[in-house]
Amino acid sequence: MADPKGFLTTPRETPRRRPVDIRLKDWREVYEEFSNQQLEQQAGRCMDCGIPFCHQGCPLGNLIPEWNDLVWREDWHGAIERLHATNNFPEFTGTLCPAPCEAACVLGINSDAVSIKQVEIEIIDRAWEEGWVRPEQPAAATGRTVAVVGSGPAGLAAAQQLTRAGHRVIVYERADRIGGLLRYGIPEFKMEKFRLDRRLDQMRQEGTEFRTGVDVGVDLTVEQLRSEHDAVVMAGGSTVSRDLPITGRELSGIHQAMEYLPPANRVQQGDLSQSSISAAGKNVVIIGGGDTGADCLGTAHRQGAASVTQLEIMPTPPNERPENQPWPTYPMLYRVSSAHEEGGQRLFSVNTQEFLGDEDGNLRALRLVEVRKEDGKFVPVEGTEQELPCELVLLAMGFVGPERAGMLDELGVELDARGNVARDRSFMTSVDGVFSAGDMGRGQSLIVWAISEGRSAAAGVDRYLMGRDALPAPIGPNDRPLT
Ligand SMILES: Cc1cc2nc3c(=O)[nH]c(=O)nc-3n(C[C@H](O)[C@H](O)[C@H](O)COP(=O)(O)OP(=O)(O)OC[C@H]3O[C@@H](n4cnc5c(N)ncnc54)[C@H](O)[C@@H]3O)c2cc1C
Ligand code: SF4
Repeated sequence: MADPKGFLTTPRETPRRRPVDIRLKDWREVYEEFSNQQLEQQAGRCMDCGIPFCHQGCPLGNLIPEWNDLVWREDWHGAIERLHATNNFPEFTGTLCPAPCEAACVLGINSDAVSIKQVEIEIIDRAWEEGWVRPEQPAAATGRTVAVVGSGPAGLAAAQQLTRAGHRVIVYERADRIGGLLRYGIPEFKMEKFRLDRRLDQMRQEGTEFRTGVDVGVDLTVEQLRSEHDAVVMAGGSTVSRDLPITGRELSGIHQAMEYLPPANRVQQGDLSQSSISAAGKNVVIIGGGDTGADCLGTAHRQGAASVTQLEIMPTPPNERPENQPWPTYPMLYRVSSAHEEGGQRLFSVNTQEFLGDEDGNLRALRLVEVRKEDGKFVPVEGTEQELPCELVLLAMGFVGPERAGMLDELGVELDARGNVARDRSFMTSVDGVFSAGDMGRGQSLIVWAISEGRSAAAGVDRYLMGRDALPAPIGPNDRPLT
């Protein structure tokens, strides 16, 4: 156990965010430095309780009390070894994970949870600084080849596990760069891309091959892919955005979030001098209150929007755990992300009725109405209609599933009732030797689940090819969060 009295004597601390007026002038991550000494004290708050529910809360089964103890004892090298034992990419989760482990922390029953996510990011940052993160070469080559389609966190985790198991792994990605949503969805201010690039360098040195600009099902047929590889892992994500087909949807100035965020990210990558869709000087409305909406919010502020309003159809969530979401579940609470802190207004319990345009077909406003829930449906509250002037609307209402045209149709894989790719216990689809991991099978989810699925699918592939149980499989395809 770490400090036996730590949880009694040390209050929870997390790093401060940089002042809003300063951070809005750049795209860098928003957090200030947190000293190693402060962090060791935070790790010392872990009680090493008999049944660590945080393990259950973390979809990777991260060995949290073990690395907390090692950090508290200043054995940072031991800590990264324990962390890497269950998580290929702690820098992705340490910056981006909503930390369901903290919602499940036993200390959180009557006090503030251990700052687990902060300990995680500091361990991996220290490991990179010290040069402890090195390529891990496989002990022996198996002579088998595996194609991984899609280079988001699921594809990358599967690829790294399979390369280290001795297979020749080729990752096919239709975009011009590797990374999936980590590259072109998530903005720099949430995770700077150097974190992704240095991890990709490690993977290349381990032997993983990357082929960009290859749309499987278009540039490369599924038959070719299958004939050239002994197994395939499809990790193409959940890429079909939910739309809002109401009056005025065709007006100029209404875009999906995933039309808006990639060019903004490309400006930061140096590909473009300015974004093709910019919020500069505009009144912006974001429809949808989740992660994607918050990323649009932070991006719009950095581009110099005149105003930003975020609309959410659900009621304002509570500040404290409601009775129907007890510990150790991950509760739906009113959360203020760094992007929310930077400005804009949030409207809850509202629905958009129509988009209004000018005579040139440009968006000039939207009409919204307050709603309440009746018999499970949202119904308008009479007399509450109002016009909200706006020149840019960003739709951030989630994703309905993977694209069928191309790879999935060609393969003829079975889909589940929600339209995602169906898998068996070992993550194999209805097509022999073809596996699927991440949002493509799970539906729109989180990075931590994508990594976990990538690891588990790799275990399934390795067993399929070699008949052995050599790789860890943290989850099954139907495992769900503690909700
Ligand atoms: C804007 C945004 C912000 C988010 N923020 C967070 C966050 O802060 N924290 C969090 O935990 N989660 C977040 N998420 C969710 C998270 O990013 C996803 O759950 C995760 O990236 C899914 O990983 P994946 O590997 O399954 O798919 P993806 O990351 O979507 O990657 C799929 C890749 O497959 C490629 N591809 C698809 N089809 C083909 C094909 N036929 N041939 C070749 N390549 C193909 C795509 O180009 C893409 O690069 C966010 C999502 C969005 C949209
Ligand atoms: S990956 Fe997420 S859930 Fe797991 S320990 Fe890290 S912050 Fe917690």
